[in-house]
Amino acid sequence: MRKFNLNSELKNKIINLKRWLTLKEINYVEDQDLKKKSWLKCGGIAKLFIEPDNIEKAEILGKYLVEENIFYYPVGNLSNTLIRDGEIYSPIINLRKIVNPIIQLNNDDSEIISVKVSSGLTIFKFVMYVVNNLKIYGLEGMIGIPGTIGGAMITNASSYDSCISDYLDKVKYVNKKGEIISIFKDDINFGWRSSIFQKMDNFLITEVFFNFPKKNIKDNHEIQKRINYVKNHREMYQEKKLPNLGSLYATKNLYSDLSKLSIPLFVLYLLYISGTKFIYLFLHHKNLLRFRKFIVKLYCLYFKIYKKNFSMSDRTINCLVNMGSDNANEAISIIQILEKKIKGRIRLENIIVRDLK
Ligand SMILES: Cc1cc2nc3c(=O)[nH]c(=O)nc-3n(C[C@H](O)[C@H](O)[C@H](O)COP(=O)(O)OP(=O)(O)OC[C@H]3O[C@@H](n4cnc5c(N)ncnc54)[C@H](O)[C@@H]3O)c2cc1C
Repeated sequence: MRKFNLNSELKNKIINLKRWLTLKEINYVEDQDLKKKSWLKCGGIAKLFIEPDNIEKAEILGKYLVEENIFYYPVGNLSNTLIRDGEIYSPIINLRKIVNPIIQLNNDDSEIISVKVSSGLTIFKFVMYVVNNLKIYGLEGMIGIPGTIGGAMITNASSYDSCISDYLDKVKYVNKKGEIISIFKDDINFGWRSSIFQKMDNFLITEVFFNFPKKNIKDNHEIQKRINYVKNHREMYQEKKLPNLGSLYATKNLYSDLSKLSIPLFVLYLLYISGTKFIYLFLHHKNLLRFRKFIVKLYCLYFKIYKKNFSMSDRTINCLVNMGSDNANEAISIIQILEKKIKGRIRLENIIVRDLK
């Protein structure tokens, strides 16, 4: 009964919000099927998927929603987020359609190039801009991460020795009181795949500022060589066939972490490392992929997650893959099975969103 009342109140607020969006010329899509946007190819129907085309509109939207006491949820590329099935009335905000997403700022300091980017810009476009236009090295390891700059701020996205916060200056966002805040890098408490933003809700990152030291300008040929290395390595060792959300758990070695939880998992880990060593020493590396597939099957048997529509990638146990379902709740239930055994001792990296109205 209470749930029904809450929903009807929210539905009325949504009707008013639609009128307000039209008045302010802010674009939105009704009944957006999230499985079409999600990298895991599942998720519910967003009744209102709002796509401002400039930062001012994004900021007044964030303020309006706070004033009207409407809980909203920002998304980037949905490459790290699993949203429940069913109709979702809480507005979803996406800043991918902001025009002119990269602006180079005038800077009196001749040693530094300052750049402002909208949070909806993809990591790929940002890295390519930094490499091709600024000729700065250091971010090229992130080339294969399919997210946006906003999403990257939440987990301090990183790969191949590059990290989104490496050249970060500050982040601008609308907080849950509707205020526009600038927070400097040192105050964001970045850690490995973590940031202060993970403890916040109802906030919208709008712009992100970077400072690149000119001493990091490098021969483009060398940066390109590194990009090719990263692309080839990803191609070889990461899931590429089936829809997925990258690493499920925030750990550099899930096999090792799991081995501390039970004797069977310790034995599996021993098998994994000794088999891998043996292949490196005596066999062709192609056998490594076959061996990994075998090991992942053993882990799936242990966790009882075989014969399901979602399972672990053949290439690594730390990646949930969709084998042909559009049911997000099924994916969530697999993660719950893992979580029951792991008991919070390893931190989830994928973000599970179950409680949106
Ligand atoms: C194939 C594949 C490979 C991957 N490889 C890596 C890797 O090597 N390293 C790595 O770190 N990650 C990796 N990831 C995970 C993912 O791409 C990153 O976490 C990425 O930064 C998420 O960005 P997104 O835009 O997709 O965020 P989303 O999944 O859309 O959102 C993630 C979180 O950010 C919040 N958010 C997004 N935008 C905003 C905003 N403007 N304001 C406030 N909150 C916001 C959302 O509410 C959500 O809580 C991989 C994913 C895939 C599918």
